Amino acid sequence: MDRSDPLDCTPARLGFEAALAQVLGTLAPLTGSVEIPLDQALGRVLAEALVAGMDLQPWPNSAMDGYAFALADLDLALGEGLTLVGTALAGHPFTGTLAAGQCVRILTGAILPAGTDTIVIQEQVVVEGPRVRLTSAVRAGANVRAPGEDVRAGQIVLPAGTRLGPPQIALAAALGQAQLAVTRRPRVALFTSGDELTPLGQPLAVGGIYDSNRYLLRAMLHELGMPVIDLGIVADDPNAVRAAFVAARAQTDVVISSGGVSVGDADYVRDVFREFGDIHFWRIDMKPGRPLAFGRLGETWFFGLPGNPVSTAVTFMEFVRPALRLLEGEPASPPLRLELPLLEPVHKAPGRLDFQRGVLVQDAAGRLGVRSAGHQGSHVMSSLARADCLMVLPAEAGDLPAGDLVQIQLLPWTGTPVGSGST
Ligand code: AMP
Ligand code: MG
Repeated sequence: MDRSDPLDCTPARLGFEAALAQVLGTLAPLTGSVEIPLDQALGRVLAEALVAGMDLQPWPNSAMDGYAFALADLDLALGEGLTLVGTALAGHPFTGTLAAGQCVRILTGAILPAGTDTIVIQEQVVVEGPRVRLTSAVRAGANVRAPGEDVRAGQIVLPAGTRLGPPQIALAAALGQAQLAVTRRPRVALFTSGDELTPLGQPLAVGGIYDSNRYLLRAMLHELGMPVIDLGIVADDPNAVRAAFVAARAQTDVVISSGGVSVGDADYVRDVFREFGDIHFWRIDMKPGRPLAFGRLGETWFFGLPGNPVSTAVTFMEFVRPALRLLEGEPASPPLRLELPLLEPVHKAPGRLDFQRGVLVQDAAGRLGVRSAGHQGSHVMSSLARADCLMVLPAEAGDLPAGDLVQIQLLPWTGTPVGSGST
């Protein structure tokens, strides 16, 4: 295993992919599941496969407003016409059985009457009193939705590990499922560290900055629907850091810190963590982001993120987010990356995988491209706030000209947020 020597303060160098694989390969989904009402299941992860207990559609029914008849009567229907004997509405079936030469008025969603197999839409008939005549031929079974056409009873409709969005919730409802078994969500504690950090509402002392990473991390966790235990600002003092870990260990599955994880004189997070648990301390070949600490404290996983706000955001997105999703029971999958042309040149030094903030631009013809969101310093929050995506620029690449294709990863909040946790 690639890790730093406990007595050496130099972090191990590790490629981004190797670090991510090591994190995801070490974690296992949390155990335990809970049955919850369907209307509380949005954003949760299925603990067990959802198996259809019935066919969808449950009944053969009409896709259109029209007339139901037996195709064996087609010649008669096209000639002198059929005799109208009743009406079938959604929720109000026609209860009789049709004899030869008869038809029934049928509306969308009504069950197909016994003795019929085909529906002609109302625009293709002429109705004269009780006679209904077709103006053109129809094929067998036209406009009939067959039972099981959507889902068959016994079929796995959603595998375990599915995150439930609106369509999944609707599918469960269509199958009559009032409750779902969902996985346990990781309980996450966070603290920020640094003597310069100032809570909102207090004036800044000279050299002070507001503790923005607390709000960043809480919001990113909220977006994932994860409940958060906020342990506050921890001073650059080993005893304070120790107390934070003791508190975190007691109540959580995951503890996330920001700041204090480098090798500076005031960086205690990593050394104090060593007193408690097993730690990997990596200098990851990525920008922004190094260094990153990852470890285990009893049953609790620890992510020590760098303090610069954009580094915190990017390491959270690239490491913590997939880790939390895996712990919650979703299968690990590589992030979705799209290839788009650069609309302007971008500056990059060869050497490290670079996650640059990008803005998506659509031209008049609807074609998408990407350009830089501006200043790429790891302390620059305004360009992150402008960005839609991260441009993932390969380690070996140098400056890239306009027109080059680059991979982009949408920021999680560019789409619809998932989950409904509390911050
Ligand atoms: P560190 O990782 O502690 O060396 O911090 C790196 C940089 O990030 C420093 O400029 C810190 O002031 C800044 N920083 C650390 N923690 C936070 C935070 N919670 N919010 C905003 N900036 C921070
Ligand atoms: Mg610090």
